[in-house]
Amino acid sequence: MWQRIGRLFQQWRKILIICPTVAFLIILGDCKGSFQLLEWATLDQFFRLRPLEAPDSRLAIVSIDQSDINHLDTWPIPDGILADLIEKINQQNPRAIGLLMYRDIPIEPGHDRLIDIYQKTPNLMGIEKAIGETIPPPPLLAEKGQVGISDLVLDADGKLRRSLMSIQLDSGAIKENIAVKLALKYLENEQIVMTPIPGESGAVQLGKSVLTPLKEDNGYYVGNDVGGYQILLNYRGLIDRFKVVSMTDVLENKSELEKQQIFRDRIVLIGATSFRFGEMFSTPYDHYLLGKEQRVPGIVIQANLTSQIISAALDGRPMIRVWSKQQKWLWIILWSFIGAIATLKLLAISPIPRKIPRGEILPILLGIGSLFGISYSAFLWGWWLPVISPLTGFISAAIGLIASQHYQLSHLASVDSLTQLANRGYFDRCLNSFSDSGGKKTHLSLILCDVDCFKLFNDTYGHQAGDDCLRQVAKAISHAVRHTDIVARYGGEEFVVILPDTNAETAAQVAERIRLQVRNLEIPHAHNKAFQYVTLSCGVASTLINPDFSPAALINTADQALYQAKEQGRDRVLYAIS
Ligand code: GH3
Ligand code: MG
Ligand code: MG
Repeated sequence: MWQRIGRLFQQWRKILIICPTVAFLIILGDCKGSFQLLEWATLDQFFRLRPLEAPDSRLAIVSIDQSDINHLDTWPIPDGILADLIEKINQQNPRAIGLLMYRDIPIEPGHDRLIDIYQKTPNLMGIEKAIGETIPPPPLLAEKGQVGISDLVLDADGKLRRSLMSIQLDSGAIKENIAVKLALKYLENEQIVMTPIPGESGAVQLGKSVLTPLKEDNGYYVGNDVGGYQILLNYRGLIDRFKVVSMTDVLENKSELEKQQIFRDRIVLIGATSFRFGEMFSTPYDHYLLGKEQRVPGIVIQANLTSQIISAALDGRPMIRVWSKQQKWLWIILWSFIGAIATLKLLAISPIPRKIPRGEILPILLGIGSLFGISYSAFLWGWWLPVISPLTGFISAAIGLIASQHYQLSHLASVDSLTQLANRGYFDRCLNSFSDSGGKKTHLSLILCDVDCFKLFNDTYGHQAGDDCLRQVAKAISHAVRHTDIVARYGGEEFVVILPDTNAETAAQVAERIRLQVRNLEIPHAHNKAFQYVTLSCGVASTLINPDFSPAALINTADQALYQAKEQGRDRVLYAIS
């Protein structure tokens, strides 16, 4: 039982060293943003896996694409036509209309009519581009405060995963996103307004939900610009998640549109849906590798954000929330430990398995599966948990533990457990390796040492004392040799030293030093025939390595010299040249 406890303690000691080290390195990498791209890719995968939600019936998109332009036979769309379009939509009493087109310059004919529409439509919002190369808003809408910004923030991989809610200009003025403007207009009817939550930096209560801005130190966007008030986009989907009507259908008064009152009480977004008229954007739903590239026009992003805000406020649909830096670190540390623990069963197979049995790797697979399972479930609840950094922790800790076990086993296979010297197997491998000296003629010497009358020592002082004596002798031999020499326990009370690049004379000097060191230990040995203390007899053999070099012959010669030393009275060094 004590042995088991000891083994368990050993294993836990390893875990307690490996896991925190692994976790620390991963946290360091995480702080530098090393896992960012892969974390984003995992989030994208979660979006693609998530079952599609029902389309948001509170929004409608009036699309303008190539067929509408063909029909009009003119581009850009004259102000008069736009005035008609807005008027027709407004006849159905929508809650808000977003004109997602840059209309800073009059486009005749019909500019006066459009100005008139701007004047008498308080629920109409225009757009401007406020960051980088700016595009001004329609001047009259700006005067009336009916303008939102349309700027989008791309991630380093070109995808849109977050959005600006508002920005603060150098002048201190705050400009809201067009989607925010439209959503708040919609929510006016329900008496829902944004109220800042005191004490929580940037957090605001909006109906049933709390909105919190993305911060750089969350670690999901290290080195990225998270300026302004940004939130993560919780996509509802692509354009098919919204009701879409073409501009031509609206202009031509398609009777069913009238009957269905398609815009009544809704938010209506007007904008281009074809790549010809505006930039197209990449979303998490894009998958280059699967060839599923489906870039979307900016209006789909704004529709998603508008829908996200009103759904959060009215239905409590989750925003995408992230953990603080510290919570992330704890998560990484936890999974490093789980990785190590999941490996324990695999380590219990002794000593090295020929094939990996399935039962033993099951905990590892289960662990990885659980990490993905937990993260995906959390995502369904609106939490974006890190996956790649804890996974790296899990795998690294498992590999670290297996590697340390492997090292320990290979160490055990080469070391003598009593004396901690190299063992016989290691000695054999080592001596054999001299057979191939690469054609270079070098000296190689061997010293075989044998404790004198050791059987009598055991008989007199007991086996425990014998073991202790062997340990002391081993230490003394190690201290007497040079660091290039290799000391091994040859067996029983015999030790052997390999002396590379050493001739017989020098080897005999080393042997003499060994003999004296052991004598100087002054371990009493009343029945030693040579001296009153424990002594050694040494046989030295030396050879010039050539293609015919035989390790066995060298050992044999040293053994004969040792025999002679014993014959001549023990406690001495004799050498032979082969
Ligand atoms: P000689 O001077 O001729 O070498 O006499 P010896 O008694 O040393 O030689 P012998 O080969 O007769 O005895 C070797 C003894 O070493 C026998 C064995 O009990 C003891 N021995 C071998 N390995 C160990 C060990 O690991 N621990 C202890 N305590 N004794 C050991
Ligand atoms: Mg012996
Ligand atoms: Mg002996």
